[in-house]
Amino acid sequence: MDHFQYRGGHLFAEDVPLTDIAEQVGTPVYVYSTATLERHVNVFRDAFEGLDALICYAVKANSNQAVLKTLARAGTGADVVSLGELRRALAAGIPADKIVFAGVGKTPEEMAAGLDAGILQFNVESAPELEMLNTVAGQRSRTAPVSLRVNPDVDAKTHAKISTGRSENKFGISWTQVSGLYDRIRDLPHLEAVGVDVHIGSQLTALDPLKAAFTKVVSLVRSLRQNGHVIRHIDLGGGLGIPYEPGSAPPPLPSDYGRMVRETLGGLDCRIILEPGRLIAGNAGILLTKLLYDKHGDERRFYIVDAAMNDLSRPAMYEAYHDIVPVNDPSGTERIPVDIVGPVCESGDTFTRARPMPVVRPGELLAIKSAGAYGAVMSGTYNSRPLVPEVLVNGTDFHVIRPRQTLDDLLALDRTPDWLAD
Ligand SMILES: *Cc1c(COP(=O)(O)O)cnc(C)c1O
Repeated sequence: MDHFQYRGGHLFAEDVPLTDIAEQVGTPVYVYSTATLERHVNVFRDAFEGLDALICYAVKANSNQAVLKTLARAGTGADVVSLGELRRALAAGIPADKIVFAGVGKTPEEMAAGLDAGILQFNVESAPELEMLNTVAGQRSRTAPVSLRVNPDVDAKTHAKISTGRSENKFGISWTQVSGLYDRIRDLPHLEAVGVDVHIGSQLTALDPLKAAFTKVVSLVRSLRQNGHVIRHIDLGGGLGIPYEPGSAPPPLPSDYGRMVRETLGGLDCRIILEPGRLIAGNAGILLTKLLYDKHGDERRFYIVDAAMNDLSRPAMYEAYHDIVPVNDPSGTERIPVDIVGPVCESGDTFTRARPMPVVRPGELLAIKSAGAYGAVMSGTYNSRPLVPEVLVNGTDFHVIRPRQTLDDLLALDRTPDWLAD
């Protein structure tokens, strides 16, 4: 459930009419709901009641510091994948001992920053990364807490670009190497193995692949313990899918996921770390856009809107479905098939094809739903389109949490070399 609902024929974000935000901030604009973010955290936390579970929100899904602060106040930690994300999480008040550092290509500088901050653990993805972390920790006279990210070679049955748990993917340590690498950690003076980590992909719509991966992790933990390793944390990654398309089969509920985790891992006496990103932020945000033109082609009809693939790239990148609704609830029931497209000079700049839509007039607003995760964070400035603003709603209040980039800001990023100076 989210807090984007119609009232009296107009779409609201909590208690704020979206038309008010469009008037004051302009379009396109991302709009997030505080109540929805908080609700998602609470629903997810409730699903793991009785377990020693820590929610480390995957910052890459939506890294605006106001969003992170909202989540920090709701008690979450953070899963970060870069120095930038680490800095954001710390600045938002997320305690270092609730931060895990993931990613296949951590630089020595990033390792040093994580060590200096005192983060909970590094999720290490390769043998050479392990050696580097030992070196960096040694230079700082520290011991780095390490979990190895294992690759369980299971098919997450999601889009290829967000599938990470097969042996052909770049992620994780292959099953045959895992045990030897834990032995290696024992030999390295500046590392301490604290856990095991697994993350098989994103937007998972069934529990079976997760259960298959977790079952493999359980047997791994048992055999590691037999070899004398102390395994205190099991990090299960993120990946639980969210409903994008009304009427399609919904993904598993967090409560079902929690039950499966309890059944599969409950007996191991470990702290469970969870890294949901999309589940927390996805349906807590929309992209508000304005219809520019209603273009009648020979075979198709196009709604040309002011948002484009540079603002929300999921449809172009993953063929992702987003529900798109008019902000003014249409009075009639007539639906016409339209392609909803942006102004960017790419045929891929298409949010949907032949979608039955109500008749909307130029100047009216549309809400592209489920855009709170992997939306603004993946936006760019292709076609010299400035980054769009982000707004956070809280009850009757709203605040611009990232202003629209100005064209002056954008152009000022370029530098003229001497030989081209006038
Ligand atoms: C992307 C990612 C997540 C978050 O995935 P969601 O599908 O958004 O929940 C968690 N952990 C790792 C390691 C990731 O790469």
